[in-house]
Amino acid sequence: MRAVTVTPGVPNSLQLTEDWPEPAPEEGAILVEALAVGICGTDHEIISGAYGEAPPGQERLVLGHEALGRVLEDPTGTLQPGDLVAGIVRRPDPVPCPNCAVDEWDMCRNGQYTEHGIKGLSGYARDRWRVQPKFAVGLDPCLASVGMLLEPTSVVAKAWDHIERIGRRAEWKPQTVLVTGAGPIGLLAALLATQRELSVHVLDRATTGPKPDLVRSLGATYHTSKVTELDFEPDVVVECTGAPVVVLDAMFQAGPTGIVCLTGVSSGGRTIDLDAGALNRDLVLENNVVFGSVNANRRHWELAAEALTRADQGWLNSLISRRVPVEAYADAYTSGPDDIKVVVDFTT
Ligand SMILES: [Zn+2]
Repeated sequence: MRAVTVTPGVPNSLQLTEDWPEPAPEEGAILVEALAVGICGTDHEIISGAYGEAPPGQERLVLGHEALGRVLEDPTGTLQPGDLVAGIVRRPDPVPCPNCAVDEWDMCRNGQYTEHGIKGLSGYARDRWRVQPKFAVGLDPCLASVGMLLEPTSVVAKAWDHIERIGRRAEWKPQTVLVTGAGPIGLLAALLATQRELSVHVLDRATTGPKPDLVRSLGATYHTSKVTELDFEPDVVVECTGAPVVVLDAMFQAGPTGIVCLTGVSSGGRTIDLDAGALNRDLVLENNVVFGSVNANRRHWELAAEALTRADQGWLNSLISRRVPVEAYADAYTSGPDDIKVVVDFTT
């Protein structure tokens, strides 16, 4: 069968392997036919050779962690043949750490977790894959064309879950949210904010392309100014750029009792001037919280599935810039200037 593979650490070793073996029964009882996988920055990093790890004893890694498939067989009866399904990305570490021991693998403390399509496990960019019921998330049939958005949505569902847990430290009635960055994560974070009936503001550099309209059609306000030029102090910031200046400005701009959730992974290596004392004073005197958030556990995947099912399906479809047949995989993994989310289509 077909699989999109790389040799981790070898730049531009991306290929469509035509004779990849069928998934082994040990991978899980549920056999799934791939419909699509979404592509994100992590895939590009792996293709560049900067990241990624093949399963033990293998040279190549199958890419794909934003999965959508259809169940072919499930002898456990958890799902039915024909059901839409996504596979959770991360698996708990084998030790396990205290968090993985209670299935909060998103909070793994020893870094020995594995991840499909990223770190030590085959990904979902292959014609067929298997998954254990515990790591399979069934999707409403309405999500047949957009279900590969579940993985990035699970990331923002976790971010919102943790924002709300932190908010419960005191009486908390947030009204305004600032999302920095209007890529897929930022747009999905904004979607979940609108579902909470908050006043949503999204800030991005782009003045052309699809982002301004995608934000406005959510009922949110689009900004291209600097964060420090905004005329309000947000109760919540979801930072999705990882850009150092934006990250710092977001910490300063948050209002009293504000919560700043950092989701962007910076490359590092660039230093900027910072008045650390002023930042400290600002955070202390306003009871602010700044925290990082990555990955998601099963509870967040289920929250994400509910959020996508409730969302406007036309809007979700408009996040998908291009659907590229797997045979044209090289086009899919080459970024275009106006791309939001590119999807590899396995149905052709
Ligand atoms: Zn762990």
